[in-house]
Amino acid sequence: MRRAQEVDVAVVGGGQAGLATSYWLRRAGIEHVVLDAADGPGGAWGRMWPSLHAFSPPQFSSLPGWMMPPWRGEGSFPSREHVEDYLTAYEERYEVPVERPVRVEAVRDGGDRLLVEGVRGGEAVTWASRAVVSATGTWSRPFWPAVAGMREFRGAQLHSAQYRGPESLPAGRVLVVGGGNTGAQLAAELTASHEVVWATQRPPRFMPPEVDGRVLFDVATARRAALDAGRPDDGGVAALGDIVQVPEVRAALQEGRLGAVPMVERLTTAGAAWGPVGHSTQAVDNRVDAGVDEGAEDGSTWNEPPVPPGEVLPLTAVLWCTGYRPALGHLRPLGLRGERGRVAVAEGSMTRAAGDPRLHLMGYGDWTGPASATLIGVGRPARAAVREIGELLGAGRGGS
Ligand code: FAD
Repeated sequence: MRRAQEVDVAVVGGGQAGLATSYWLRRAGIEHVVLDAADGPGGAWGRMWPSLHAFSPPQFSSLPGWMMPPWRGEGSFPSREHVEDYLTAYEERYEVPVERPVRVEAVRDGGDRLLVEGVRGGEAVTWASRAVVSATGTWSRPFWPAVAGMREFRGAQLHSAQYRGPESLPAGRVLVVGGGNTGAQLAAELTASHEVVWATQRPPRFMPPEVDGRVLFDVATARRAALDAGRPDDGGVAALGDIVQVPEVRAALQEGRLGAVPMVERLTTAGAAWGPVGHSTQAVDNRVDAGVDEGAEDGSTWNEPPVPPGEVLPLTAVLWCTGYRPALGHLRPLGLRGERGRVAVAEGSMTRAAGDPRLHLMGYGDWTGPASATLIGVGRPARAAVREIGELLGAGRGGS
C-alpha cells in the first residue's frame, strides 16, 4: 500500500464552501489540499438546470475576497452559468490547491492525524491530515420521499437533481411535488410546456417580493445573534416564508399559473390519487426538515385536489422537488453522525464537530453557520473555522 501524503488540512469538496475555506486557509498561510470528486470546478452550480438563476444580484452572491463580476444578461439575477464561471475564475485567481477528480470515501481516526482515503482514477490515495474540513454539499444526496405506490407508477419519475429543462419530461400532465423554491420555480417553468399539477404539503408560503439572498443572510445572522444572546427565537428565515419570489415565480403568481394542491395520498400505475380533504400526508419536503411550523397566510392559493378522493388523475411524469440531505457518508468511520445523519457541532463554534476538534463541517445549512449554504453566507463560517484550525495547529506544533 502507498504511504499517505501528509498535509496540515484536507478540505473535502471543491464547491463554493471548499473554495471559501481555501481562501481563508491561504490567507492564514496554512498548507492544505482541496479534494474534489467532480471533473471540473463549480460544485453543484455546474450540474444544476440551465435555466436556473441565482436569487440575488452579484454583489450579494459573492465569496470572500473577490466580488462576482457584474451580470449583463436579462434581469438582475445572474444565470447558473455565470455563477459557475465565477467559481471557476475564483479557483484560478486564488490558486486553490485542488486535486480532482478525487472521491473521498472515508475519513478515519489515525491517531495523531485523520486519514482521508480517496479514489483517483481507480487508484486508492490517502492523505494524513491534522485537520479536515468537510464541504461536500448536498447535491449528491437527493431526497426521495416514500410515497405509497411510487414503485408501481409507470410514467417517468425524476428528482430535480436530474432535471435539465422541460425536455427532461415526456409531454403531458406532470405532477410537481414540493413546496420549496425548487418546486415553485420548476412548476412555474413547466407551465409553458406541460399541464402542471403542483402538490405541496401545506399552502405554499411565498416570501415578500423584496426578499432576496441578502435579506436571507441578514435575517439568518440576526437570528443567530439573538439566540447567542439568549433572546427568544424569532424563526429567522423560516418565519419569512419558504419561497423566494424570483422573477419567474412572481410572473407565474401574477398570471395565476401557480396554484398548488394538497400532497397526493398515493401514486398508482397510471397517475395520482388524493385522500379526503384534511388527510394528513407524510413529510415530503425540506421545510419539514427545517422544523417549520404551520405558517402565516400570504394569500397564495391551495386548491382542492383535482379529482375527488379515490379517483385517479392520469399523469405522464412526476418531478420530485423534495430537497437534499448532507453528503456525509465519508465521515461514517468516525462514528460521529447523529440525528438525521448530521454531525453535532460543538457549542460556541459554527463548524467544529463536537466529537472531534480536528473536523469541521462547512456550508451545509444554518446548522453549520447562518446562511452557510449560500454564496454570501459561507465566507464567515469559513473564516471562523480557519481561525479555530490555526489555533489547533499552533497548539499541536507548540507541544511537539
Ligand atoms: P456543492 O456545490 O455541492 O459542492 C460540493 C463539492 O463536493 C462538489 O464538487 C462535489 O463533487 C464534491 N464532493 C461531494 N462528495 C465528495 C466526496 N465524498 N469526495 C470528494 N468530493 C466530494 N445559494 C445562493 O447563495 N444563491 C442562490 O441563488 C442559490 N440557488 C440555489 C439553487 C438550487 C437549485 C440549489 C440546490 C441551491 C442553491 N443555492 C443558492 C445554495 C448553494 O449555493 C448551493 O447549494 C451550493 O452548490 C452549495 O455549495 P457547496 O460547496 O456547499 O456544495
